[in-house]
Amino acid sequence: MKDPFGRQINYLRISVTDRCDLRCRYCMPEQGIAVKSHDEILSYEEILTFVEMSTNFGINKVRLTGGEPLVRKGIVDFVARINQIPGIKEIGLTTNARKLAPNAKALKEAGLKSINISLDTLDPEKYRYITRWGDLNDVLHGIDQALKVGFDKVKINAVLMKGFNDHEILDLVNLAKDKPVDVRFIELMGIGQANELASEYLSTTEIMTHIPGLRKASDDNLINAGPADYYPLEGYQGRIGFISALSNCFCGTCNRLRLTSDGKLMPCLHSKIEVNVRPYLKEKDLDGLRDAIHGAIELKPSGHKLSNGKQVSDDGRYMSQIGG
Ligand code: SAM
Ligand code: SF4
Ligand code: SF4
Repeated sequence: MKDPFGRQINYLRISVTDRCDLRCRYCMPEQGIAVKSHDEILSYEEILTFVEMSTNFGINKVRLTGGEPLVRKGIVDFVARINQIPGIKEIGLTTNARKLAPNAKALKEAGLKSINISLDTLDPEKYRYITRWGDLNDVLHGIDQALKVGFDKVKINAVLMKGFNDHEILDLVNLAKDKPVDVRFIELMGIGQANELASEYLSTTEIMTHIPGLRKASDDNLINAGPADYYPLEGYQGRIGFISALSNCFCGTCNRLRLTSDGKLMPCLHSKIEVNVRPYLKEKDLDGLRDAIHGAIELKPSGHKLSNGKQVSDDGRYMSQIGG
């Protein structure tokens, strides 16, 4: 289905939990956030019903996120069940990779196609600092294991922050030289915890000046590329991508909906608009569910109001509650 601005909606991001085993400083406060009780969280059964219904509106691509999706029990079987839904062509996962190494093989066998791994620094101390207690080795091991079991779509997502990791740009870029992974730099967005970090924002243009030899990918390479602009580098196995939500807003081609773990359907990451689909799922009211999804797509705003000087998001949730 197309939204009122003519954008074809085919991509659903599902936050399967608001819990996380890390506390990245730009995402969550140290004490964490008040997490939902198990009763408030959608069951896998309910999410599957939602995904099935969403295929009627043209959803064919799903990404599981969180919080940290790998902390939810039964996630591997859940992937396998989504994989059986007719109409779903691709399932991806966005993870901090803390628990990836032991699960990579099973996830591949369950039908997962792509993995996005969050990694902001290659310095073990800095990694521990930014995540508050994470171990860099877990992530590096997770990346290697994902490649070893045969994932050919592994992307590294790095949020750059002035004065923290901007001197590591080339080290992160070199991951794409050493391994067949795409490395993507994400502009820090003013949402939740990150509203306190506005002065650390670094634009894509600034980041690019640190990377010699960038040349834009051909249009062919950009098909289905989503919000990232990709640049291959001579002699590198992977590409370098930039997700420039602020400096080069991609709202005009936005194709996505988000489902939160407590059953709110959000047509836009940076808007307060949410449609509560939980009651329809609880009552197995499929007509109500259909109308709710239709309504959410109709309500999708044209874009966000973030801008370089003023990064404050319209949304009251933390990033970990929506899933990025
Ligand atoms: N826990 C998983 C992970 O870290 O990959 C999935 C959820 S996390 C909210 C999804 C992505 O959002 C991560 O790549 C994280 O770096 C990114 N993120 C969180 N807060 C952000 C912010 N304020 N600006 C930009 N990206 C952010
Ligand atoms: Fe957890 Fe991901 Fe947020 Fe880090 S970015 S605190 S890993 S949800
Ligand atoms: Fe889509 Fe909203 Fe993100 Fe823009 S801000 S890309 S409209 S979700």
